[in-house]
Order: sequence, then structure tokens, then C-alpha cells
Amino acid sequence: MGKHALINVDYTNDFVATDGKLTCGEPGQAIEDNVVSITKEFLDNDDYVVFAIDAHQAEDPYHPESTLFPPHNIIGTPGRDLYGKLSGLYEEHKQKKNVYYIDKTRYSAFAGTDLEIKLRERGIEEVHLVGVCTDICVLHTAVDAYNKGFKVVVYKDAVASFNEAGHDWALSHFTNTLGGTVK
Ligand code: ZN
Repeated sequence: MGKHALINVDYTNDFVATDGKLTCGEPGQAIEDNVVSITKEFLDNDDYVVFAIDAHQAEDPYHPESTLFPPHNIIGTPGRDLYGKLSGLYEEHKQKKNVYYIDKTRYSAFAGTDLEIKLRERGIEEVHLVGVCTDICVLHTAVDAYNKGFKVVVYKDAVASFNEAGHDWALSHFTNTLGGTVK
């Protein structure tokens, strides 16, 4: 196992499919093969692969996103399933020791989860990010990773957003402000 881990963020039906509840639409669908091939590469190398997936209750008056976005990624609905070929890849590998699925309730995969402990235990120093949305959950995960002292690598052809300007801004933020690598 290497010093890096892949964090696969929110690549679910609700965020990617045409009829998803909070979808990125075409830009999200266009990265499918890249998300799958990068994830496969990490799996084949026995690297640590984390699926950090939004998990919401149907009606949650206490959740700040309730007033910001339509309901999405509700626990127990197909909208929360991984999108397209990533779903099959996950099913094939989910029993492996290096695969970890996290229910997250905030934008950042670190917020309220044991992700940091899992990464520290494994001596991981660098987190690689794929998924959606570039300027929301990928961004907030990257910012937390930076603040905790992890190096950040983002795959520009394996992240997407419904907001093109936000996507472009976030890509520049990863390098110019977080000192990360965008490749
Ligand atoms: Zn959410």
C-alpha cells in the first residue's frame, strides 16, 4: 500500500444522471470513463480507495443544505447509488480491505467522519480526488485535506460541476491556493 489514497466523491445518480435530483448533467456524465479508469488503477495497485458519498435524511430541518438545494442522495433511494460503470466496479471490489465507503453528511469527506483517522493509520500523506462537484464537495474535501497537512492531487478530467465558472475557479484554487497538483 502506497502513501496516497483515492477519494471518490459523490459520483451518484442524483449528482450525475440526466434525471438526477441535483445533477451536473453532461459534464458529470462525460467524466465517467475517467473516474472509472482512475479508480480501477488505484484498486489494481491495492491502494486505499475511499468512496465518500453524501447521505441525507428525507426531511431534515436541521440540515443546512435543506434550504439551499432540492432533496438529494436520500438514504435508501436509487439516486444515492453510484452512477454507471462505477457502480459495477464498486460492487466487484467492495469486500476488499483497501476499499472504504463513507456516508458523509456535509460537503467535505472529513466533516463528521473518521476519514482522517483511516488515512493517518495507513501513513497516507497525499489524497487524490475524483468526482463531483468540483467547486462544492471536491473543493471542501480538498480544503480540509490541505488544512490537515495532506497533499492534494485533483484529476481535472475526472471532476465536474453544473457550474462551469465554479469548476474553472476551483481548479485554479487547488493549485494556486492549496498548493496541490491538478493533472
Ligand atoms: Zn448534500
